[in-house]
This record gives sequence, structure tokens and C-alpha cells, in this order.
Amino acid sequence: MAKKQFKAESKRLLDLMINSIYTHKEIFLRELISNASDAMDKLCYLALTDDRVGMSRGDFKIEIQADPESRTLTISDNGIGMNKEELDANLGVIASSGSYRFRQELAEKEGEGEENVDIIGQFGVGFYSAFMVADSITVTTKKYGEEQAYRWASSGVDGYTITEAERGGVGTDIVLHIKEDAEGENYSEFLQEYKLTALIRKYSDYIRYPIRMELTHHQRKEGSPDDKPEYEDVKEVETINSMVPLWQRPKGEVSQEEYNKFYQEKFFDYVPPQTVLPISVEGTVTYKALLFVPGKTPYDFYTKDYKKGLQLYSGGVLIMENCADLLPDALRFVRGVVDTPDVSLNISREMLQHDRQLKTIANNLKKKLLAELARMLREDRESYETFFKNFGLDLKYGVLQNYGADKDAYQDLLLFYSSTEQKPVTLSEYTARMPESQQYIYYASGASTNAIDALPQTELVKEHHMEILYFTDQADEFLTEALRTYGGKEFRSVLNDDLGIENTAAEEADGGDHAEVLAFLKETLGDQIKEARISKKLVRHPVCLTAEGGISFEMEKYMAAVQPDMAMKAERVLELNPGHSAFQALEEAVHNDREKAANYAKILLCQAQLIAGLPIENPSEYADLVCALL
Ligand code: ADP
Repeated sequence: MAKKQFKAESKRLLDLMINSIYTHKEIFLRELISNASDAMDKLCYLALTDDRVGMSRGDFKIEIQADPESRTLTISDNGIGMNKEELDANLGVIASSGSYRFRQELAEKEGEGEENVDIIGQFGVGFYSAFMVADSITVTTKKYGEEQAYRWASSGVDGYTITEAERGGVGTDIVLHIKEDAEGENYSEFLQEYKLTALIRKYSDYIRYPIRMELTHHQRKEGSPDDKPEYEDVKEVETINSMVPLWQRPKGEVSQEEYNKFYQEKFFDYVPPQTVLPISVEGTVTYKALLFVPGKTPYDFYTKDYKKGLQLYSGGVLIMENCADLLPDALRFVRGVVDTPDVSLNISREMLQHDRQLKTIANNLKKKLLAELARMLREDRESYETFFKNFGLDLKYGVLQNYGADKDAYQDLLLFYSSTEQKPVTLSEYTARMPESQQYIYYASGASTNAIDALPQTELVKEHHMEILYFTDQADEFLTEALRTYGGKEFRSVLNDDLGIENTAAEEADGGDHAEVLAFLKETLGDQIKEARISKKLVRHPVCLTAEGGISFEMEKYMAAVQPDMAMKAERVLELNPGHSAFQALEEAVHNDREKAANYAKILLCQAQLIAGLPIENPSEYADLVCALL
């Protein structure tokens, strides 16, 4: 019989598994057990809507059998099984979820040496991980609804075979032939009762189906005399796991470690969650939920592959892997499970969307999540700042969507970098500190806090010891439009002409009439500026560029990046500081040497553009002009 070859990428993964030096080889059992559990979930779900299945939840079980003599370990389930095509597709190629993620992460970490080996434990690598402990594997399986059973067999990289086989009922047996012990490698322990029970309790305790195994008890023979007790080995099949899902257990009883482990295994993350939120509600709707905020941004978070949603269970049966309706878009980073007896089991997915109970739960979850984030912000600032770095953009989105309809829910969770505090602050912290004389909440936009810090337009506000919020996200300026005010105070860009601050120093120093210089600038620079103007904002810097007419420079840059061919331009106003010696030099040149004055004008405009982070049209001309001055 001809052997089928594994697909190229599967071969690589297989090779890694077979020659694994990974120290936690034991995770293979967790992987096989969770595959079995998934297969039973599928049939259990089918049984709810189809009487012909003839099974109910209590009928499902996983059986583990170890035979040290033949060195085989068997994991059996009575789940949905696989037909010939599925065997070929699922176990012949890495198209499956766990292994796929693994491959992605492996590709990302390529070249980082030893580290990639650790990904094996961080992710479920699924079925293939069994090759870390087995030199050959057979899978005998019969799919629900089909007559014929099949056997898949492989001893590793040289390929696999699929043949017809016999199997009593529907389900799957996975038989591993455990490797011989080698120097420093004890594989035989995976055939020993105590090790297997320990592994099951360690990794698979919350699996909701019984994991059954025959255990040997060394016990006193019945009727043997007290003074001469005799012992015998009695074998008994027992359920090893406690089967109580974590979310059903009272929160005081579950350790942080257990929560973390549950999260990392269930949601394939190698970083523990930032926060865990166990919820138990009884009332008009009854449900339990276990929600997690991930500790890092998922690699596919900003791709269309990322799907928001929570796992939905009804009375312990998985109804839906990803129920999107349970989470608002702004909280799409949340992972977790919801278990409620109130959602009808055989409800269709379309119906589920309109389900009133589900809507109530979703509203409830949103409130609780927002309250948890507020708590984190209050009580664990450092954690919150990490969280905000990861997912703050989504909260901003919460403010923006539907023209700010839901801004009240999210605005107090936002953080912005503050010029005076030099760290992220909330809007309420900002307004609480505002001196009475301050009319506006000031903000300045730019690519980074450093770039904003250097903006000349921030000088006046800083000089008056007032605080500026630095907007470094492209979404930030749009936020002010959705929010309009916070705590009764309007937002105002430091670029705005009217900052509500008198620049007395500038006005005192300057009583002069500069109309001639300003007219000269406009004439010389032409269309490059809308107007030249004496600045009320500049304190130390000679020039700055201010946008007028509704489009800011940040918006201009954003549009230029996303839609270069229909770029829109902000109207440029060149502001000058009459107290600065550069201005005085320009003024003098305008009166005495117009050619020199024209060069000064060009230099000043270029400088203003550079400070605003805008490209200059002719950099080499600018360089020549500056050098001519030296
Ligand atoms: P993953 O479980 O992450 O999808 P695996 O490599 O572990 O990746 O498994 C690949 C696929 O093989 C599974 O998605 C499932 O469809 C199928 N499979 C594995 N084990 C079983 C089983 N015991 N019963 C039925 N199908 C299974």
C-alpha cells in the first residue's frame, strides 16, 4: 500500500516534534484530550438538535489506557469521529487551528534560535505533539452517520497510510507507541498510572467530560485476619478529572494561577492575562462568565482574521465558539466564556442575534468590564497603562463610534500624555488640576511626544504653566470632535489663534507696525502660505506654521499617507515672533536689501514647515541658503 506524504510545512513541524528537546513533552496528553473533548462537544451539540444521535451529555467520556508491556498508550473518545477525507485533511496537513498558529509564530520567531522550541508549550500544537513521545501512532475512527471506520497510521516523516478498519461505535482511538527510553529521557513514565493521573489533573481537570482510567489499588484482602493481613491489587475504573468547569467554581476557590493557565490554554496565549473577571449573576437572567483582558495585543488583532466574541455555553454545552453579539466592538479584545441556562439550546445562530436574554447579558457584561477597567485604572495604574498601550485605541474607537453616542461609557478610561506630568493622565485628572483662569483643555498633535514637545506653538501655554495633552494617535484629533467638551471645558488645539491667554510679554515688547514685512512675506512666498501674521503664541521661537480652515496638519499627513492622489492640504499661516532677532533681521532686510529679505523669508518658511513635521519642497535649496549665512 502506497504511503501518502505529508505536506511540506507539516513535515517541518513533524521533524521538530520528533527531534524535540523540549522539556515539557508531557503537554501532548493535554492536546489529545482537548481534541477528544472538542470532538465530543461537536457530537453533543448535534445531539441537541437531532434525536437520531441518541446520546445525551452524560454518555460522553474519554478513556485512557496504558499498557507498559506493549508500550502503548490509548486515548479513546466517543465524539464525532472523522471520515476518510477528514483524516487526510486534518492529520496530513497543517491546516488546523492550533498548528497553524504555531507555524505563524514560528515564522515570526525564526532566527531567534532556541527560543522557538518554547513555543511548543506556549501554544497547543495539537495532534503532532504526540510525536514528541511516540515513534508511531495509529488513529482508528468512525464518523457519526457513517458505516465505515478508518485507520490512519504513521511512524513520522516518511508519510502515513489510511486503510479501512473496524470500530464498534462512533468515535476515535488514538494509539501511541511510546518511544524507548534514551539517555536522560524517560518516556516510560508516560505509561505509568501515577504519572498519567497527575498529568490529567494538572492540565485537563476542568475538561467537562469524564476522563476515565483503570487504577490499581493495593488493598487489604477482605476477610484476611487482623494479625496477618493479606493484600491484593484491585483494579477499578475511575474518573480522574474533577470536571467542574473553572467558571462554575466560586471565585474564592480558584487561584490566580489556575485562571492564568485556563486562559493561556484555552485561548492559545503565552502571556498571562492582564486581568481576570469572574462573574456570577442570578436574577432576570442567570449566567456565569469568566472574562480575560489579554496581556498583549494578539498578532492578528489588526487584521481581518481577528474575530471578536466569547464562547457561549448553555448548561455546560458549547453552543457557539465565537459569539460576537456578547461584546461591543470597543471591547473586542476581551476573551472568555459565558455559560447560561437561559439561552435555548437548539436556537439557531440567526435567532441568537435577536435573543433578549443574550442582549441583557451583553449589556451586563459591558458594564462589568468597564467597571473592571475603571477599577484597574484606580487601583493598579501600572497595569492599566500596559493595558492602555495594548488596547487603548479600541476605547478611543468606543468614543468615536456613532458620533460620540456612547462617549460617556469610555471617556474616563482614556489616557493622554501630559506636558506637565510627563506621563499619561486622564481627562478628569487634567480638569481637576486646571487653574481657574484656564478656559480650555489644551492639546497638541504630532507623531511623537518628542516632536510635539518641540513645537513652538506649545510655548505660550507652557510659559503659563498650563498643561497640554499630547495627541500622538491619528484618532486623537477626531476624539475632540466626538467629545466636544469634558467637565464643561472645551478642547482647544495649541495651534488655535485664540488660546484665551494674553501674551503680555510679546505685546509689551512689540508696539510696532509690521504691515510692510507681512505683506512682503505673502508676496514672496505666494501660494505657499495663506497669510503671514504676528504671533500671539511664540515666546522664544522665531516662527511657526499654523493650520487654518478645518484641516489640521495631522489630518493632512494622514490623508497623504492613506490616499496620496487626493491629498488635501491644510491652509498655512506663517506666524512670526516680532521679539526675536531673526524677525528683526528680516525687517531690516525688507527695508534695505530685498533680495536678502526674500532668502530670509524662504528660510523661515522652511523652518516652520520642518518644525510642523511637514516635508519641504526643495531641501537642497534650503541647505544652500542656510550655508550662505554661515
Ligand atoms: P487543532 O485541534 O488545533 O485543530 P490538531 O492538529 O490537534 O489541531 O487537530 C487537527 C484536527 O483533527 C482537529 O481540528 C479535528 O478536526 C481533528 N481531530 C483531532 N483529534 C480528533 C478526535 N479525537 N476526534 C475527532 N476529530 C479529531
